[in-house]
Amino acid sequence: MATFSLSQASLPSLRSPNPKSSNPYKAPNIRTHLVSIRCSKSSPSPPPPPPPPPPTPSPAKHRRPADENIRDEARRLHTIHNFSAKYVPFNAGPHSTESYSLDEIVYRSKSGGLLDVQHDFDALKKFDGNYWKALFDSRVGKTTWPYGSGVWSKKEWVLPEIDSDDIVSAFEGNSNLFWAERFGKQFLGMNDLWVKHCGISHTGSFKDLGMTVLVSQVNRLRKMNKPVVGVGCASTGDTSAALSAYCAAAGIPSIVFLPANKISIAQLVQPIANKAFVLSIDTDFDGCMQLIREVTAELPIYLANSLNSLRLEGQKTAAIEILQQFNWEVPNWVIVPGGNLGNIYAFYKGFYMCKELGLVDRIPRLVCAQAANANPLYLHYKSGWKDFKSVKANTTFASAIQIGDPVSIDRAVYALKNSNGIVEEATEEELMNAMSQADSTGMFICPHTGVALTALIKLRNNGIIGPTDRTVVVSTAHGLKFTQSKIDYHSNAIPDMACRFANPPMQVKADFGSVMDVLKNYLSEANPKV
Ligand SMILES: *Cc1c(COP(=O)(O)O)cnc(C)c1O
Repeated sequence: MATFSLSQASLPSLRSPNPKSSNPYKAPNIRTHLVSIRCSKSSPSPPPPPPPPPPTPSPAKHRRPADENIRDEARRLHTIHNFSAKYVPFNAGPHSTESYSLDEIVYRSKSGGLLDVQHDFDALKKFDGNYWKALFDSRVGKTTWPYGSGVWSKKEWVLPEIDSDDIVSAFEGNSNLFWAERFGKQFLGMNDLWVKHCGISHTGSFKDLGMTVLVSQVNRLRKMNKPVVGVGCASTGDTSAALSAYCAAAGIPSIVFLPANKISIAQLVQPIANKAFVLSIDTDFDGCMQLIREVTAELPIYLANSLNSLRLEGQKTAAIEILQQFNWEVPNWVIVPGGNLGNIYAFYKGFYMCKELGLVDRIPRLVCAQAANANPLYLHYKSGWKDFKSVKANTTFASAIQIGDPVSIDRAVYALKNSNGIVEEATEEELMNAMSQADSTGMFICPHTGVALTALIKLRNNGIIGPTDRTVVVSTAHGLKFTQSKIDYHSNAIPDMACRFANPPMQVKADFGSVMDVLKNYLSEANPKV
């Protein structure tokens, strides 16, 4: 049902997007909430009528005793509320009654479809948009457990019922929203271009945002004595790195299935260093995936692969964070590179919740960017969303999106249809050139971000994105994970590719005259007016 909306799933009746006009409850202000946080014995009954919200939250009066750590402190200051969330089939009709507790171990719906984490919007709507904005803003950049994390600063919207004590966090998120001043001016004639550096993160990719949620929930299940002896995934890169790190932080065994000899040193070293049990298997990625599926059917190993809807709850906070970083002003465009297509939906969901809960009045247009060598969503979009066909993915420098049969295709189509979205693609040469151009203006991005920048360049050139449109490009991993592709490019060592922006080191003889010659040459080219 294409017209289904999340609000229908969560509300008995549709409400005005402005909760102030329809809300039977007075929204308490931030000061009231902070008082109730700080007093664990305070009653959960509605707070007294509030004075107008203060411009900034009140500073903490309390100080943590010297012998108490931040986790102990969170335990003492336990918050009482009645927010909740559950699994429902993704995009189920309004009459579906199928749902599961988040404390159940379930990956798919009865019919074999995807699941979605559905929040109790009625409970969340008892507080208006200004309340949530002030609450989220009050938590940024602190060490208060667990709110110092960009994900857990939105805890009420992520996993409302988990005990702060069970959370496994590296204070991920809160990533830099970089003003791409020179790239925008020099290559696109744009003045309001931003790169959301989700890869400047604990393990160097946005996968941390989802993994902190998944591993925290597993930690809770283990404390409830549910049968989970470890967490496993098949992955060649960022997922296994994030899984290993968060499991290591919690002391939970992690198991990673990797295809032998198809993994670079950089991809292999993270799970090894984090003491994951790494199985090097003589097959490809699909072979590993198949094997881990069979193994998890026999052994109580929790499966951390991409269809897991818990991860999207963490990933969606990057969208909320973008709005927050713009003082809750909505950008015109957000461009996300997509492979298995969970992240594009996560961004949609984050923006959607901010609109539905009254923090903003609209959502940005979304663009999903694919590598031309692995472009099933692009082909589907170009066909006018006719039948979806998976493709055989060819090798791409954007290796994390080399996926021909994306698990979250339905989620992505839903996100794009509901955000007036667009899908673009990038050839290998285009994505490597875009990455190198970005690097030449002071960034150090990964090839996936090069795919997203190529989409931007194309949409700018054909006039769909205007010169003054506020545009955010989502950078998904740290460039330092992908140095080999940069070395190959700058060495002009990529077959059939004109590396237009290559900058190889100059070989020069060890004598003063030779060094002076090349330097003078360089300086006159670099400073044409001098
Ligand atoms: C996982 C990943 C992606 C793709 O995200 P999907 O949710 O699978 O679309 C893009 N870039 C990087 C660096 C990744 O690790």
